[in-house]
Parts: sequence; C-alpha cells; structure tokens
Amino acid sequence: MSSSLLLTNCSQLVTLRGPVPRRGKALANPGIIRDGAVLIENGKIAAVGPRTEIEALPESLDAEKLDAGGRIALPGFVDSHTHLLFAASRAEEYEMRIAGASYEEIARKGGGILSSVKRLRAATEESLQQGALTALQQFAAHGTTTVEAKSGYGLDAASELKTLRIHRELKRAQPLDIVSTFLGAHVVPPEYRRRGKNADDYVELVAQELIPEVAREGLAEYCDVFCDRGAFTVKQARRILTAGRACGLQPRLHAEQLARTGATQLGVELHAASCDHLEKINRADIRALAKSDTVATLLPGCCFHLGLARYAPARELIEAGAIVGLATDYNPGTSPTLSMPMILSLACTQMRMTPAEALGAATINAAYSLGRQKQTGSIEVGKLADLAVFDLDDYREIPYYFGVHHCRLTLKRGKAIYCANDK
Ligand SMILES: [Zn+2]
Repeated sequence: MSSSLLLTNCSQLVTLRGPVPRRGKALANPGIIRDGAVLIENGKIAAVGPRTEIEALPESLDAEKLDAGGRIALPGFVDSHTHLLFAASRAEEYEMRIAGASYEEIARKGGGILSSVKRLRAATEESLQQGALTALQQFAAHGTTTVEAKSGYGLDAASELKTLRIHRELKRAQPLDIVSTFLGAHVVPPEYRRRGKNADDYVELVAQELIPEVAREGLAEYCDVFCDRGAFTVKQARRILTAGRACGLQPRLHAEQLARTGATQLGVELHAASCDHLEKINRADIRALAKSDTVATLLPGCCFHLGLARYAPARELIEAGAIVGLATDYNPGTSPTLSMPMILSLACTQMRMTPAEALGAATINAAYSLGRQKQTGSIEVGKLADLAVFDLDDYREIPYYFGVHHCRLTLKRGKAIYCANDK
C-alpha cells in the first residue's frame, strides 16, 4: 500500500541541495526555497519546490497534508560522531575539572574513559539498551535522524561485542538510522597496564582477534582509533586501521585533539572517511585534508564542555577547501550533549562558521562522511524523507537562539518520530 504525505507551508525549505561533498564557498549555499513544500511517497522524497507548484501536482491531491504553519524545514541532522552507549554520566569529574583538574589528571586517577569502561563492563545489556533508546528519542527531539555510534567503553572481547550487538539491536528497535563503528582502540585497557602486558599486546588483540570477529558478524562498517597523546600512537593506529580495512571496515580517526601526533596525515594517507577533533592541527595537516576526500569533522562540544579556548580552525579548513563536518561527540566525559542545534551555535560563535556553513557541515557533509550521501543529508528527490521542522522563521535562528529547543517535528522515512506538544 502506498502512503503519501505533503509537507507544505514552509517559510523556508532549507534543501542543502547541490554538489556533494560541499567544499569552500559551496558550503555557504543552503539552497533555500521560500514558501516551499515537499511531497513524500513511501518514505522517500518524491517532489520538492515552491508550494504552489508542489500543491498543484496530481499526486499531491491524494496525499495527507501536513501544514508546517510557516515554520522552517530542513534535512534531519546527521550526527556522524557519537559514543552512544555508556552506563552513567561523569558529573563528578565535571565538578573536579571546574575545581582545576585537567582531563589527563582525571584519567591518571582512574577517572575519564576508564571509569566509563568499568561501568559499561558491569552494566546489563538491557540497561545499556534502555539508556541508548532514551538518548535516541532525545536525538530525534533535537532534529537528528541518523546517528553514528562507536564502541570503545568495553575494551575486551566480550564487552566490545556486547556494545556492537546492542547497536545492531537498536537498528531494529527504533526508527533512527544507526551507523556502527568499532573503536576497540579507544584507550589501553587497565589490565594491559598491570600484568606485564603493554599497549602493543592490546593492539594485536584488536587487530588479530577483535576485528575479524566484528567483521565476521557484520557488527560495524567503520574502524576508529583514538590516536593521541596518552592513547594510541600513529604506528599502532596504522596497524589497527590497516587490519580493519583488510576485513572491510573503513577507517576513521580521533586525531589531534590533545596534541599534534600526525594522526591526520595517517588518516589522509589511508583515505579515512573522516578525521575528527583537529583542535591541534597545523598548516600542513590543513593542506593535506584540503587535497583529500577525508572529512574534517569538528566537535566543538568538547572544547565548550572542557572549558578550552582553542577550537579547531574551521575557517582555515573551509577556506583551504577541506570537507568540513560537525558532530556532537555525544559522550559522558567530554561532550554530554546530543543537541546538533547547540553544536551549530558553538560552530558559529566559537569557530566563526556561518549559519549556512554549519548547517551544511551537520547534514550533507556529515552524511558523506558516513557514506550515506545518496540516502540522506539534503532535501532532494529520491532521498529518504528525513526532515526536521523548527519553530522559527529563518534558518539562521537555529544557532542564534543557543541552548533553546525549537524542534517542532522530526520525520524519519516520512514518519513522525518526534512531535512537540501544542502549547
Ligand atoms: Zn569521540
């Protein structure tokens, strides 16, 4: 049975249509249709254009009509970097940091990522899945329709596989698209620091045992490494990402967050889908990214939450021609937000991206970084009807009203997955 829906009376239909990926000046064009409408058939976009034109189509006459009431509509956000599954918040560390402790000091005291590891290993699958389901509803409530999810709080075979199997279960249990990434190399697990074993032994466990098992069960599309000071070296990252690629897992990297290590150059060399963070990159790294198809995914929520002054050089990256993306980095230690509108505010205010650039980075370029650019990330015929309606007149008001919730309606494959209560 076919089902069609006409979303109409959108003051601005922010389509993000155009070339993919979006580089340089092309990132600044949001492709707005004023007084626009979208015809949706069987979960996909069947027609897009000015309201008068779309409403006059014969197919529109039979469609269920959804009046946006003069609000703006945009593509659902694609959150291309999250640590979706964790057992508990780390609010106690937040308070310690406010009192002056650094991220690395907290990690040395057994806090940081390792405290999330301890809690995730102890948590039941049911409680982890329930926590993720609640979070995914909140992602949807902020206009997000696709979420990348990383493992990396397990750091042993049983707990990493437990995390990735929950990703698989979540794909079935709720409507958002989940893109699963294996981040077995997040940090060196505690048992490899105590028993005469070292980081290289863990790297070999990841490369020789975990990656083949993850690939065999089809539990992830991507393999990620936290390649940074205090985590894994470039050499170790190369070993893991090459092993991942040999098993069909495409590389992505946490790069240059705490220190410049050369991770970005490695990512470009390996044709990684994305290098993420990039607060400490240099000019040569920017040039390398600009010449590559690797997305520079910026995560300003981390700098904001940690109270750091140095954000990634978004302007230099855009002006050099790199493909810039934005994501929340939703995680309990450094960026406990799932709000893409808040990330847009930070991108504009702290990294001097324009509202249009930020929107393109959070939708079409993010979709490109996940290999989903043909399905989502813009409002174009043939793509999934992944849309968000915001209670605003102008798309620039999304970042402008920082920290204020304006998402009114979120559609995934043409179905409402979030609808704000009438006031
Ligand atoms: Zn991360």
